[in-house]
Amino acid sequence: MSEASTYQELRAHLATLRLAAAAEALPAELERARADKSSHTAFAESLLSIEVDATLARRQASLARFASLPSPWRIADFDFDAQPSVDRSMVTELASLRFLDDATNVLLIGPPGVGKTMLAVGLGWAAVEAGYRVYYTTAADLVARCHRAALEGRWATTMRFYAGPRLLIVDEVGYLPLAGEAAAALFQVVTQRYLKGSIALTTNLGVGAWGRIFNDDPMVAAAMLDRLLHRSVVFNIDGESYRMRTHRARADKLRSKGAKRD
Ligand code: ADP
Ligand code: MG
Repeated sequence: MSEASTYQELRAHLATLRLAAAAEALPAELERARADKSSHTAFAESLLSIEVDATLARRQASLARFASLPSPWRIADFDFDAQPSVDRSMVTELASLRFLDDATNVLLIGPPGVGKTMLAVGLGWAAVEAGYRVYYTTAADLVARCHRAALEGRWATTMRFYAGPRLLIVDEVGYLPLAGEAAAALFQVVTQRYLKGSIALTTNLGVGAWGRIFNDDPMVAAAMLDRLLHRSVVFNIDGESYRMRTHRARADKLRSKGAKRD
């Protein structure tokens, strides 16, 4: 076989195997191998490593899309000095992602604006970047989706969906009271992930007030808390809203400038 037809065969093999990145890089890689007089082994390795990099990048992009994280914040962006009630070493430990190994839950409790969502999302990104499947949802969205699923006869599929990700983030539990079917949906999601997959949950209500979220049924609240807390890391975040704090700092600065001018 001539060199030209071997080359065509090789291109056809790469196309059949859907190795698009390697196919695209082939002419340049051949050129380079000739110029560098590289070995056959070195050539094969470098061509395939291009395909491997492309595959990993695609996988990463698909995990990131699936995760639906609502903001780009990473743990590194969190200003710990502004929020002394958050234990920095505990967050650093969580960012190592060892908590995913034994399905430990993370509960972030505190008033609005103190960084609960930011920390949960930051852990989410850390897990995505480590190659784990993550899914972010608000409690309201979870409940609405389960409601639709029940109507359309897709309850079991939907429950499997929430059981799937290695880390499930449930944001904003407690802003809306969950009664009846809504409480049952969240309860089932928590129950089926129990000891199998981590949940990072944010709430504005301290665990003592959880009965209020499930006003129909304090037993559901107690049973859910039992499962969530059994193996968990809990952050009770207090202090003022980070946004308010920045507004106040800016206002103080303006005022002090004004005062100097007087
Ligand atoms: P919560 O979920 O507790 O209501 P968020 O996480 O949404 O609060 O935080 C509100 C805003 O303030 C977000 O834009 C967030 O990025 C920012 N923020 C809060 N805490 C911090 C912090 N310690 N360092 C940097 N930004 C913060
Ligand atoms: Mg929030």
